[in-house]
Amino acid sequence: MSKSKKKFKSEVKELLDMVIHSLYSNHDIFLRELISNASDATDRLRFEALTNKDLIEENPDWKIKLTLDPDAGVLTISDNGIGMTRDEVEKNIGTIARSGTRAFLEELKKGESKDSLELIGQFGVGFYSSFMVADEVTLVTRRAGEAGATRWISQGNGSYTIEDCEKDSRGTEISLHLQEEKKDYLEEWKIRKIVKQFSDFVEYPVAMDVSREETPKDKDGNPQEDAEKVTVIEEQVLNSMKAIWMRPKNEIKKDEYNEFYKHISHDYTDPFKVIHFSAEGALEFKALVYIPGKAPFDLFHTRDDRKGIQLYVKRVFIMDDCKDLLPEYLRFVKGVVESNDLSLNISREILQENAVINKIQKSLVGKILKTLKELKTKKPDEYLKFYREFGRVLKEGVHFDFANKEKLQDLIMFESSKTEPGEFTSLRDYVSRQKDGQKEIYYLAGDSRDAVTSSPHLEIFKSKDVEVLYMTDPVDEWAVQSLSEYDGKPLKAIDRGDMDLDFAGDNADEKKKDEKGKTKDEKKFGKLIEFLKENLNDQVKDVRISTRLTDSISCLVADEFGMSPHMERMFAAMNQDAPKTTRILELNPKHPIMGIILRLYKNNKDDKKLQDYAALIYDQALLAEGTPVNDTSRLNRLISDLIVSEGTRIIADLKK
Ligand code: ADP
Repeated sequence: MSKSKKKFKSEVKELLDMVIHSLYSNHDIFLRELISNASDATDRLRFEALTNKDLIEENPDWKIKLTLDPDAGVLTISDNGIGMTRDEVEKNIGTIARSGTRAFLEELKKGESKDSLELIGQFGVGFYSSFMVADEVTLVTRRAGEAGATRWISQGNGSYTIEDCEKDSRGTEISLHLQEEKKDYLEEWKIRKIVKQFSDFVEYPVAMDVSREETPKDKDGNPQEDAEKVTVIEEQVLNSMKAIWMRPKNEIKKDEYNEFYKHISHDYTDPFKVIHFSAEGALEFKALVYIPGKAPFDLFHTRDDRKGIQLYVKRVFIMDDCKDLLPEYLRFVKGVVESNDLSLNISREILQENAVINKIQKSLVGKILKTLKELKTKKPDEYLKFYREFGRVLKEGVHFDFANKEKLQDLIMFESSKTEPGEFTSLRDYVSRQKDGQKEIYYLAGDSRDAVTSSPHLEIFKSKDVEVLYMTDPVDEWAVQSLSEYDGKPLKAIDRGDMDLDFAGDNADEKKKDEKGKTKDEKKFGKLIEFLKENLNDQVKDVRISTRLTDSISCLVADEFGMSPHMERMFAAMNQDAPKTTRILELNPKHPIMGIILRLYKNNKDDKKLQDYAALIYDQALLAEGTPVNDTSRLNRLISDLIVSEGTRIIADLKK
């Protein structure tokens, strides 16, 4: 294929601008990124070669080589890893494949906050960081097992050229023509220092030709002190290559942990928490895992290119993102696990049923949850920071990880009627604040804190000062269904079934029943309730006098086991058919409207107005909980009628 000049996809161009101008204050890290990519490419080939030895026959020794050419002003990083085909270069270097990227970048541009800048690090921007120091980058690459190679050149200004070329051996060579003021990256000491600082643990030798002045020796090997010194060039390995997870914890500095995190996660901020441990005994493995500081923007989308847990077997990299090592709800954890109890030719397909993997998973999950528990007890403010980022995902665990339910239920938190917006309470704290005699944990689900706090269902709880948990995350209701109780106390949705708040104050009078089992209010409004029931027959299951309303006229209550309206709305939002459930309309006997309707009803049962009012009260109940009204034109007409008749009366009064 011939040479062609192409433009970067516009999102790449934008990202590039951000990377060059604002992402990293420390320009040294471009080298870390390129060495990480080279190391990844070597990992991938090493793994492919397990089943296809031919791929590495020509050159079986792994190496990442740095070459300094001060005369040309060029720094070259080359590897003998997997390389790329022309198509792969186009795909990996010219575009950003992750879905949602465009929209996300738009968001970033709107809010120029520090936070948004931190988020850019989530993209694979490593390669582009070379443009922080170079005014031209040339990439020459040959895929292992292929004959031809590809050359890609760009000045980082919006376009690149790509053409077929020749290359002696497999792998990738990236040459940076350094900007004038960045020429110090051609000095040996500087490169040596950066490699030591950022890439010491890389498993493959990072080598460089270093020159040394040497005193020549005579034929017996004695130095010839008065002879002119000669320059000797020799290749030196700059990194120690010690796998950090294999080293004893007490020898590892925080910076080393952090740099390794950045190497494997391709995140550019420090991790929030490091968990490093080894299991010994029947099952032996080593794990170094991290909780990131920030949730990625697409934590709730499925993704193929997530950097999760890398699996190593007997010092050989087997795979990135080994999903079977952690359950979905811990998908934010990144790191490395190495085991000697697995065979090298393990494939993704057989991982799932593998007993060793399952045991490692169990132990890993236990360790992570224990770490979180300790954090929550000892450093609640720190835990809160974590929870704000990843709490929602953790709640999925309550639903999916039955074995760890007990542990997870103490890690999850909710907003409540007693917390400030954005603050949380745990179930334990809720229970510790409960009133004497309270046997249930109350909650209300809704789309947002605002929607929940304005719900009529909360009225009686507010007036009796009983705390209600707010379930405003879509996942909450699933979690609660699986939880069903905490500390022996059932979780109860306050918009379902009957409500008994006697423990919170005396309303014995209201509840006292006569010989027919009816309260005073039920007797007073009995006939009217029957009438309303007939009228709203196809919309509600029942109509009854409420004990949960203090201000509003009406609300809708689901059956104890019925689907909650919030759940129904979620189904509707996902365009999924949910079984249509009818609910019970509850009316507030103390509301003046009830008195008025009762008078009208007693006066004339056939008064057309009564039907209108029945419809209005029902619509009000829907509106109060945020459910769309079925018949908006009817509601519109009824409100207009009300204004007209009320207005006409006022005007008549004015004329008097
Ligand atoms: P990231 O490494 O975070 O995915 P980069 O922009 O650094 O993002 O690289 C994009 C992609 O280009 C990589 O995912 C990889 O597929 C490919 N790539 C980069 N460098 C190399 C290399 N040295 N050898 C082979 N492929 C590479």
